[in-house]
Amino acid sequence: MTDCLFCRIIAREIPAQIVFDDDDLLVFKDINPQAPLHVLIVPKKHIATVNDLAAADDALVGSMFRRAAALAKEHGYSDRGYRTVFNCNREAGQTVFHIHLHLLAGRGLTWPPG
Ligand code: AMP
Ligand code: ZN
Repeated sequence: MTDCLFCRIIAREIPAQIVFDDDDLLVFKDINPQAPLHVLIVPKKHIATVNDLAAADDALVGSMFRRAAALAKEHGYSDRGYRTVFNCNREAGQTVFHIHLHLLAGRGLTWPPG
């Protein structure tokens, strides 16, 4: 999708600080980080929101969480703790309509979130 920001990053039309790349996923640093570690785990397949996931995407979503855990471990946050977040639609604050899993770590994260 040429009008999708994250599809354009995946196509390398827009630069990003990429930290992981494989056949299914691209992970890059959030441009406006909310924690010392804040990366976005993005499937290469365009899916607009979590509402649009199909059963066929179950393995893909599983791989997103497993990648989050691997990156948290790589950065030394497995035991300290980290947060993974999918925002869905307006009231949750979704601004880019291509699903992405936020991985945040490196500071105390309050609960409930804002
Ligand atoms: P969300 O609000 O859940 O849709 O998250 C979208 C995230 O994408 C925000 O945290 C933005 O800071 C981030 N973002 C927007 N544009 C870019 C970009 N060009 N490169 C990296 N991250 C971006
Ligand atoms: Zn897209």
